Amino acid sequence: MKVLKFGGTSVGSAARMKEVAKLICDGEQKIVVLSAMSGTTNSLVEFSDYLYKNNITGGIERINVLEQKYYDVIEELYTIPAYNFEAKTIIKSHFDYLRSFSKAVFTLFDEKAVLAEGELLSTALFHLYLQEIGEDSALLPALEFMRIDKNSEPDTNYIAENIAKQLALIPDKKIYITQGFISRNFYGEIDNLQRGGSDYTASLIGAAVVADEIQIWTDIDGMHNNDPRFVEGTKPVPVLHFEEAAELAYFGAKILHPTCILPAKLANISVRLLNTMEPSAPGTLITTKGKNGKIEAVAAKDGITAIKIKSGRMLLAHGFLRKVFEIFESYQTPIDMITTSEVGVSVSIDNAKRLDEIVNDLKKFGTVLVDKDMVIVCVVGDMPYENVGLQAQVVNALSEIPVRMISYGGSNYNISFLIKSEDKKRALNALSQALFN
Ligand code: ADP
Ligand code: ASP
Ligand code: MG
Repeated sequence: MKVLKFGGTSVGSAARMKEVAKLICDGEQKIVVLSAMSGTTNSLVEFSDYLYKNNITGGIERINVLEQKYYDVIEELYTIPAYNFEAKTIIKSHFDYLRSFSKAVFTLFDEKAVLAEGELLSTALFHLYLQEIGEDSALLPALEFMRIDKNSEPDTNYIAENIAKQLALIPDKKIYITQGFISRNFYGEIDNLQRGGSDYTASLIGAAVVADEIQIWTDIDGMHNNDPRFVEGTKPVPVLHFEEAAELAYFGAKILHPTCILPAKLANISVRLLNTMEPSAPGTLITTKGKNGKIEAVAAKDGITAIKIKSGRMLLAHGFLRKVFEIFESYQTPIDMITTSEVGVSVSIDNAKRLDEIVNDLKKFGTVLVDKDMVIVCVVGDMPYENVGLQAQVVNALSEIPVRMISYGGSNYNISFLIKSEDKKRALNALSQALFN
């Protein structure tokens, strides 16, 4: 069985949904994971923001505009009146539920329930469309099997056990439709896998059912060798190692959710990135390929803060780094990059929520310098150190850019640079020019 995930743009209109239906109805059994229609989750976030600020009128206006979009979609999607009527009933009940949150106190729990509505709507409408065209499909309710634990990590045993139960309740269907992104948490409340998390759902399901392949269908023909939003003439990379794909996803290649590679890698299930607008394009295959000694792609991660701790004393005496790391750990702040010298250590973080407390605690070790609004640019490929010249080629490409930190050697797959965000576009273009042209 294959698991296919279609992102927001791929189900973003009636026409796109019909294209997806054509793609998946090939007689093979599959699980189809859908995102919310594009724009929906953002609208639900805006709706929640209004309610947090107790602006009920603003919130209701926002949600009514969204509701009208859905009524427009179904006019185009269904041709048989009974299905159109059923779709209206579905939309009305979901939006009535959303409007029921317009009350004095709006909580984080309410927001999670609100955000879940996007995927619940897209799957209900798409399943109804498959019914209309006579396809053998069934809805698989993600809230009955997707679960995260106390640390917000997926509970993989629970997921495998419970998706098997759900599949056994409706056996022998050709197409199982389920919601990406949404889950329950340890307490049974509605929760989610973070923005963009439908990719993660697909790989967790793929691992749980031991799928033949996980396919991520989106609006571009695979993982490109640089960010197409900032660089012209980028090209799809045909094959990536799991490790390379994980680095690219973590360091900003938006096509994949940062955590989505791990479950597939652990279960050794290949992931294929494909384009809904151009289904015959080969896309990118992510697998356990052999070494090829090539630089494959570049990505960039925004919103980084760099922290340097300088000390006149023997800074790197044993035990020192542990003490530094413990401070970050105590504020539940992961470190992305680290570089050290005899007199100082620099780290970068992408979550600056606890920055003031962290800096305060670090001051006991020496002078602390903070640089905000930085970007990690990450060059990914098979780059073992014996492969002389690759690192120099990468560093040379950035000869015109002020670089705050450089990191290589943590793995053979990644060389990272920390630069100012204003230099990001220039750096990405310089790297494409030097490495791929
Ligand atoms: P979906 O809604 O299907 O999940 P996303 O918008 O999350 O789609 O991801 C697809 C987008 O990722 C592309 O439209 C592209 O702009 C962006 N992107 C960023 N970096 C890359 C890259 N290296 N390769 C391909 N796409 C990328
Ligand atoms: N709908 C969710 C989001 O917009 C999840 C996803 O699309 O992957 O973040
Ligand atoms: Mg996405």
